[in-house]
Amino acid sequence: MKSVSNLSTHAQPLIIAGPCSAETEEQVLATAHQLKDAGVSIFRAGIWKPRTRPGSFEGVGTPGLAWLQRVQRETGLRVATEVANTIHVQQCLQHGIDVLWIGARTTANPFAVQEIADALKGVDIPVLVKNPVNPDVQLWLGAIERLEKAGISQTGAIHRGISPLGKSVYRNNPEWNMPMTLKELRPDLMLINDPSHIAGNRELLAGIAETALALHMDGLMIETHIQPEVAWSDAAQQISPQALAELLAKLSGRPLDADTKSAADLSDMRHSIDYIDEQLIDLLSYRMQVAAEIGQYKMQHGLPVFQEERWTELLEKHASLASSKNLNEEFITQLFDRIHQESVRRQHGVLPLIPAGYSLQATTTAPEALPAAQCQTRAIF
Ligand code: PEP
Ligand code: MN
Repeated sequence: MKSVSNLSTHAQPLIIAGPCSAETEEQVLATAHQLKDAGVSIFRAGIWKPRTRPGSFEGVGTPGLAWLQRVQRETGLRVATEVANTIHVQQCLQHGIDVLWIGARTTANPFAVQEIADALKGVDIPVLVKNPVNPDVQLWLGAIERLEKAGISQTGAIHRGISPLGKSVYRNNPEWNMPMTLKELRPDLMLINDPSHIAGNRELLAGIAETALALHMDGLMIETHIQPEVAWSDAAQQISPQALAELLAKLSGRPLDADTKSAADLSDMRHSIDYIDEQLIDLLSYRMQVAAEIGQYKMQHGLPVFQEERWTELLEKHASLASSKNLNEEFITQLFDRIHQESVRRQHGVLPLIPAGYSLQATTTAPEALPAAQCQTRAIF
């Protein structure tokens, strides 16, 4: 039985929906009234907003809690908001908020989570814990355990993806293996997917939600706003209550797809490959800079540019390192040959070898005029 089983009264996925932020009483109430009949069980709204950089809208604060109380009274929906410290917890308890959640940035900080757990001692309110912004399942689980140790019996987890290191189509990469690992470690926990913060836009929402349900997650938290395009926070990813109803209707009609698990695995693996490729490009760019600096130094000090023994020694070292790492020696030798040629080509002024901020006197001979052997002798290492 799931720890937050009393949050869900039926076999259907638990749907949590509402705006990223409570902005005005009218916006909160209008959104909640429209959501009431859309299959939503819990109304969400951020009251204190953890913004990445200062200066953006940081939430309406405590006055917004009274708006959530109105939502409870007028719609019968349970209400949820994010807490990040003792004061937030106390304010929520005083205002009878039904469900709390801990945000991704807070989960990453055990001191903050412990503070929240301490503030909740003696109160058994459902608390959902978002995954931390970094891919650390133990940190996620640790936050849940801190709450459980404080006596919270209704804990649950929200999968919202992790901050990408490079470019990504997602705002936060799903890293599906993370919730799946948590599920293996704690099959008893309610696991909810937050496609809004993973997608960062409306277009990717449905696909992520479908994958989550196909992976047997227990529910969805979807940001919903009466006028998404003018939302004060996360405007690009919010959808209207009507769009939510349409999205949910499509999801519930769709049978679980046996291929979805492999699609999710493939998506994780593709992210790893994309990330590795970006790192390779960064490293190559850095290598070109260093080679340029060495070349410049040698020119300034009248040192010979190319040392045959050094190049031979390098190639041998690479080949043996490659074979120790199960890489084909010939492939690595060819690869380094190409890198070497590119350094030479750039040094001869076909392309600037040195990025902005550096300077290197270009050699006067055009590369095509140089025999291949001479190109080699112009190499800089
Ligand atoms: C949110 O749910 O509005 C939020 C701030 O989410 P996260 O902690 O996942 O960034
Ligand atoms: Mn948000």
